[in-house]
Amino acid sequence: MTVIAVVGGGITGLTLAYRLRSRGKDAVVLEADTRLGGNIQTRQRDGFLTEAGPNSFLDKEPTTRELAASVGVEARIRAADPAAKARYLYTRGRLRAVPASPPAFLKSDILPLGARLRVVGELFTGRVASGVDESLGAFGRRHLGETATEVLLDAVQTGIYAGNLEALSVGATFPQLTKLEREHRSLILGAIRTQGAARRKALPAGEAAPEKLRGALCTFEGGLGTLVEGLARALGPAAHAGAKVEGLTPMQGGWRVSVREHGRQAELLASHVVLATPAYVTAGLLRPLDEKLAELVEGIAYAPIAVVNLGYAPGSTPPPDGFGFLVPSMEKRRLLGAIHASTVFPFRAEGGRVLYTCMVGGARRADLVGLDEEALVTLAREELRELAGVTASPSFTEVIRWPRGIPQYNVGHTGRISAIDAALARLPRLHLAGNAYRGVGINDCIRNAVALGDALSG
Ligand SMILES: Cc1cc2nc3c(=O)[nH]c(=O)nc-3n(C[C@H](O)[C@H](O)[C@H](O)COP(=O)(O)OP(=O)(O)OC[C@H]3O[C@@H](n4cnc5c(N)ncnc54)[C@H](O)[C@@H]3O)c2cc1C
Repeated sequence: MTVIAVVGGGITGLTLAYRLRSRGKDAVVLEADTRLGGNIQTRQRDGFLTEAGPNSFLDKEPTTRELAASVGVEARIRAADPAAKARYLYTRGRLRAVPASPPAFLKSDILPLGARLRVVGELFTGRVASGVDESLGAFGRRHLGETATEVLLDAVQTGIYAGNLEALSVGATFPQLTKLEREHRSLILGAIRTQGAARRKALPAGEAAPEKLRGALCTFEGGLGTLVEGLARALGPAAHAGAKVEGLTPMQGGWRVSVREHGRQAELLASHVVLATPAYVTAGLLRPLDEKLAELVEGIAYAPIAVVNLGYAPGSTPPPDGFGFLVPSMEKRRLLGAIHASTVFPFRAEGGRVLYTCMVGGARRADLVGLDEEALVTLAREELRELAGVTASPSFTEVIRWPRGIPQYNVGHTGRISAIDAALARLPRLHLAGNAYRGVGINDCIRNAVALGDALSG
């Protein structure tokens, strides 16, 4: 019994199984759906390349590059178009450009003058008592003041978590911020010192710099599905789509895994099992083994989200400038934001077509995700008209609902993860992976999957 069963064929499970196999281990992926990729779903229709889930990743994680290279798709990485550089926020009645530097921030109208001056007052912020798991909202108000928190910080979290400022844990969602506070007290001071230190470390003149990742926003030619296809090709028959895991039974030296594969019941004997499934599925599989552990995992909340892709015929609406816009919760609008998908990645819309990817719902308006498709399209069109002045009728619409879309690292998350780790120690050769625990971005999922693969094959 040497096979490692990886349950769940999203980016986490695929990366993990690929890493294990590259290191000489026998690993298989068991994916319930008939297609691999989980949240990553690229579609091609009517001259548009649409994404049902994630749209891009930041090219700052060496592990993601290395993975793309080793499955033969690195040459297909595509950076965002320079026209997508500007980012917008909808605040105080209109879209406003997000300033790109501190001097530009001070001169901009993104916040009223008093709120901008309050941000400068950040220099005098004290440290929170150690061990306090603070909400993002409380942390933001201490450092940046009420308005900057409700406008800027809320927009930033919305773009990643679609969450609730008062519920999310700052330490679990933005650990870089709590690190800056711990080490430098003030975020502004910390940022200045860290940049200064980075400059001092610059290489002497004439010395060749090592290849450095630029942190550009990227996808692949063919969309994010290209990476999934690369992994699927590399895994070959080791990736089983249409294989739903229904139960786990401990046995000497490993686990008996009950699988329903294409309607047929089967059993797999595995030396290790990794559950790379969403937390609510993982909890169901854990319940017969350890009720307490199942409860801990089930307590990880998810924000629902609906993605509404609106495509426009060439010439029917002007191509929008910039990456897109976000709408802070205090504006009480029905849209979380929109990505100007055809500006960011022009190859995703053929022949001058325009593609908007609108996001609706999130923790703040979970009720909207239950609307039917037609109502969601109408809502997105009305909001695009009122917020961004888009009056044309789309020639193409697509709605994807994610009833449990993005895991929420709420206050208590870090303690919950420690408790999960402690409980897992009682179930040898069973491991949890995926976006519910230590990072929701594609880069986080890949980095954590590779690290687990190395630990299991070390
Ligand atoms: C709308 C949306 C937009 C996003 N945008 C971005 C973005 O732009 N950039 C970014 O970096 N991240 C983004 N994310 C986050 C990112 O997409 C996810 O965190 C990541 O793809 C999760 O991968 P995963 O493999 O951990 O989980 P999943 O993709 O959820 O994979 C889990 C898999 O387990 C399978 N499964 C479930 N039950 C069983 C079972 N019983 N047996 C076998 N298999 C089972 C599921 O079918 C699924 O394929 C976005 C997410 C969403 C929803």
